[in-house]
This record gives sequence, structure tokens and C-alpha cells, in this order.
Amino acid sequence: MNETVAAIILKQTDYREADVIISVLTKEYGKLSFVASGARKMKSKNAGSIMPCTIADIQFDHKPGKTMFRLKTARTRNLFRALHEDLVLSAAASAACESADVLSLAGEEEENSDEKYELLETCLSYLNEKKDPDLVLCGYLAEMMDLFGILPDVDECVRCGSLKVSAFSAREGGFLCQDCARQLDVPLRSPLDLKRLRLAVKAGLAHYDAAAATGENFHRELRDLISVLQLHAGIEIRAFSFYNRLFDH
Ligand SMILES: [Zn+2]
Repeated sequence: MNETVAAIILKQTDYREADVIISVLTKEYGKLSFVASGARKMKSKNAGSIMPCTIADIQFDHKPGKTMFRLKTARTRNLFRALHEDLVLSAAASAACESADVLSLAGEEEENSDEKYELLETCLSYLNEKKDPDLVLCGYLAEMMDLFGILPDVDECVRCGSLKVSAFSAREGGFLCQDCARQLDVPLRSPLDLKRLRLAVKAGLAHYDAAAATGENFHRELRDLISVLQLHAGIEIRAFSFYNRLFDH
């Protein structure tokens, strides 16, 4: 039976001579893969509608239990044009889509797939509106980590519960008091630095505007969240290396 779903294109991989495989996120079925036959041919009518970091309406024959399908037609629903015209924004969007890809399992047994879809859609919309990419990514990653139960604890020392915090450790998964930080050889941070990190973690995408109103730079906080994700979800997100390199000069 033909069905059409809105899908955020996460990744595109060349396959055989003229085909591509795309990995997408949907509200209804979580992560799915599609073979787009002939998408690398000049005449392909679908090629323009399966670009990563866009949303397309995809028509296919859904079969329960399957996670890979043949794509019939794809039509762009939201191109997020502005973010594709800016190097930093497009790198940020790629990092968000890659995060969604590696943090999602294929298949409809997946929980929270509608929440994950909405978070990524909001993230791409914010980038398209040229909001601060560091803070948008912080908000996106924090909300994803919350779904996975690996959000860092930024209310108290994660080891002893002391409310007098002086450091942050990605490995420990949150703030540390001065004594615990010394024992673990973790460098101390200023109260202002810790406050900014707490804000980056707590704001999420939902309270982006309040966090942005501080006018702070959130690049270090983004690196902290990426470290937590890598250490606790055990994943490497290559697009973040590229994104970070854009700031290293
Ligand atoms: Zn402590």
C-alpha cells in the first residue's frame, strides 16, 4: 500500500552505479532507510529532494517489521535554504543530523520517535533562522541526552552531592565540588563558567531565547556536551570534528 511520510534526511550514501541509500527520521516509524534508484543520474526526478538536512515527503510501500524500502517518489517539504548557504550553519546541521542518525535504531519499535523528529526539525529551523549554532546544538544535544537518560547533572557534585560546585567532568557526567575535583585531578572552573554550562544544559531548545539573551559564547559548553555524548553513549560524531575545526583559527 502506498504511503507518504514526512522524513528528515539524515544521510546519503552512494550505492551501486547510479543509486543512493538515504537514512531518514520519521515521526511514525523512527529511523528508516530507502534505496533511491537512479538518484545519481542526471535525469533523476528525486535527486533534488533527498539532500541531507532537508525534509521531504516520501512515498513508499510500508511493510511492518521492515526498515529498508524502495523510494518511489520524494518531494521537498522544507529545504531550509539559508542553512545550506552558510558553511558554519550547514556544518552545524550536518552534526545534528549525524547525531540523530547514530543515536537512533532502525525500526518501528523505537520509542520517542516523534519527539526525536520534532527536536531535529526545531534544531534545523533555528539554524535556518541563523540563530547561534553553538547554542542551538547545545540545546539539541541536551534534549537528546535527556531522552537517553545521559543528561549531565549540573545541580550538585555528582560524587558527593555537595551543592558547592567548582568543576565539571564529562567522564563523571556532571559537576564536582572542590574536594572531589582535586581527588580526580579535574581542573576547577570559575562560577561564571559553571553558570554558563548549567544554562546550556538546562535551556534545551525550548528555552533557547532566554539563554541567547545572555549574549554569552557557548562554544566551550558545546564541546563539553559532545564529550559527554562520546563518553557515555560511546559514539563518535565525525561532523562535530569538522564543525569545531571551523572555530580553531
Ligand atoms: Zn563532591
